[in-house]
Amino acid sequence: MIVEAIGVEKSRGGLTVALDHLVLPAGSLSALIGPSGCGKSTALDLVAATLRPDRSLRLRLGDTDVGLLWRRQATAALIAWRASRLGYVLQTGGLLPALSVRENIRLSRRLLGLEGPGPEAGVAQRLGIGHLLGRYPAALSIGERQRVAIARALVHEPPLVLADEPTAALDPARAAEVLALLTDLTRERGATLLVVTHDAELAQRAGLRLIACHTTPGRTAITS
Ligand code: ADP
Repeated sequence: MIVEAIGVEKSRGGLTVALDHLVLPAGSLSALIGPSGCGKSTALDLVAATLRPDRSLRLRLGDTDVGLLWRRQATAALIAWRASRLGYVLQTGGLLPALSVRENIRLSRRLLGLEGPGPEAGVAQRLGIGHLLGRYPAALSIGERQRVAIARALVHEPPLVLADEPTAALDPARAAEVLALLTDLTRERGATLLVVTHDAELAQRAGLRLIACHTTPGRTAITS
């Protein structure tokens, strides 16, 4: 899915985050890098269509004019778009503790009413979590939780995968491994990937194209 965010702005907490010209070609693999607080998560939420921009010249995600949906306050259409088009990996997994690993992974398909497990078995095997499907999140290590979160973000086969500091809680070796798996699995599915991280070296080693935040007092500009 192509991502086009041009002249998209959001102000909060005294900072304006401006996606001046963020264009991600379909199937591209990128990392948004910059220090803590520069507005990376805000930028990601704008691309995820979860945060309403204050201003948007052009915000198109695939064939959907998300800027127009926000202007029309088309909440149901935005929710439906996110459920079907987006896979989102959070910093700490965001798994539901009352559901088993298998149920957590299947959630993204169930929300869409998709029949069957889809690519669950193959994805779980690649991530090395096949033996954990019957467990509950509390019985997993942090690294295992992140792998489950990656599986959950992929099994409904979304064309856009976003990840917010998915390896921040992992030690360097595990961080590199998990980021490589996320990158490989997204690439194999032909999806577009945008990962937020403060660790440029890690992103570079995973083969991601680096997109930097340009910060001046009160404003962060992002241009790809
Ligand atoms: P990063 O991901 O680079 O650490 P964030 O996008 O989380 O940066 O934060 C950018 C700025 O927006 C910070 O000044 C932060 O305090 C502010 N901010 C983040 N979330 C909110 C919110 N929900 N309400 C108000 N301000 C927020």
